[in-house]
Amino acid sequence: MKSRNVEIRYQCSKPVLAGREEEYVREAVSSGWISGAGPYIGQFERGVSDYLGVEDPIAVSSGTAALHLALLGLGLGDGDEVIVPSFTFVACANAVSYCGATPVLADCDRLSWNVTVDSLRAAFSARTRAVLLAHLYGLPADIDPVLDFCRSEKLLLIEDCAQSFGARYKGRAVGSFGDAAAWSFYGNKVVSTGEGGMIFVRDPEKRGQVRRMRSQGMDPSRHHWYPVKGFNYRMTNVAAAIGCGQMEMADYHVEERKRIGRRYGANLADLETGNTVHLPVRPADRMSVFWLFGLVLKTQDPEARDRVIRRLLLEKGIQARPFYIPLHRLPMYASGLPFPNADFIGNNGIALPTYSGLADEDVDWISGAVSEIVREEAG
Ligand SMILES: *Cc1c(COP(=O)(O)O)cnc(C)c1O
Repeated sequence: MKSRNVEIRYQCSKPVLAGREEEYVREAVSSGWISGAGPYIGQFERGVSDYLGVEDPIAVSSGTAALHLALLGLGLGDGDEVIVPSFTFVACANAVSYCGATPVLADCDRLSWNVTVDSLRAAFSARTRAVLLAHLYGLPADIDPVLDFCRSEKLLLIEDCAQSFGARYKGRAVGSFGDAAAWSFYGNKVVSTGEGGMIFVRDPEKRGQVRRMRSQGMDPSRHHWYPVKGFNYRMTNVAAAIGCGQMEMADYHVEERKRIGRRYGANLADLETGNTVHLPVRPADRMSVFWLFGLVLKTQDPEARDRVIRRLLLEKGIQARPFYIPLHRLPMYASGLPFPNADFIGNNGIALPTYSGLADEDVDWISGAVSEIVREEAG
C-alpha cells in the first residue's frame, strides 16, 4: 500500500476478515436482505450479548449513533451537563451536544490515559446529570470508584467501549457496568462491521424506547404511528453479516491484541526504564485489549513526536499515528481551562501498528525501529 509515494509496510490498523464474513455477506446479498432488516442483525446482537454478557443490545449504524441514542434514551437534554474526557475521540462530545446537553470536559490520568474520580469531581456542577466514561486504547478505566461517585452524586453512567470491545474490569466486560454503553464497529476497531455500533441500555423500558428510536420511533404495534421523534440509525443486514463473521472470531481478535500488546510492552521496556517513554499501564484488576498499542514520549520538545512519526514512515514504512488532539483545544469545545495531562498525552502520544495477524517477528521489527528512532529523537 502506498501513501504519498511512501511504501507502507505496516499500516497502523486494518480490519481482518479471517472468518466467514464473505460467505455471510454473499448470503445477505443473494437473499436480497441488504437494508436495515434481515436475520443477521438479530444474530449479531445475540452474538454480542452472549460474548459480553449484556442483555438485549441494539445494533446501530455507527458508534456515534450508539452514543447519541444511549444519551437520549437516558433522557439527557437541554440544560444538562455531561462530563466527557478531554482526551478522547470527538464523537463523545459531539453526541452529548446532539442531545442539546453540554459536554463538560475532564482531564485524564497521565499513565492510564482515562479519566479518574478526581478529574470528574473537578468537572462536577449542580447541573451535572451524567458521566460519559471512555475506556481508551483498550484499557478499562477504574470503574468502581467512578460508580461510587455516580451513585453518591446521583449521576447516570454511560460507558464508551468503542476502543475496548471485550476488555474486562475485575473479570466483567466493560459496557456491563453503567446505565448504558456504546460500542463502535468502525474498520479500525477490535471487532468491525465496516461502519456500525451497538448500544446496551440497562433499564428495559428505556431500552425499548432506544430500539424504537433507532427506526424513526415507530410504535411496533401500530404501523406509521410515531409517538416520539426518532432517527434512521439502523445497521444494515450486510454490515451485520460481517459482524456475525467477526463474532465467531471474537476470541481470536481479542487474544491477538493481547499478544501484540504484551510483546510490544516487553520489547519496549528498556525505553521505559530508560525514562524515555511511558508505556500502557497494566493494572492487575483489568484486562486490556490493546486497541492500538500506544506510547507517550517523556520529552519537553514539542516537535519530537511528529519527527518520530515522520521518520517511522519515511525510513521504515511504519504507519504510526499521533494521539488525539484533546477536545479542549478544538474550537467547538474550547473552555479555557487547563488540562495538563490531556495536553501532555495528546502532544506526545504515538499509536503503533496493532491488528490481528501482525506476527511476533513483525512486532519485534517494528519495536526495534521504534526504539532506534525514539532514542535518537527523544532520548
Ligand atoms: C470510534 C469511536 C467512536 C465513534 O465510533 P464511530 O463508529 O466512528 O461513529 C466513539 N468513541 C470512541 C472513543 C471511538 O474510538
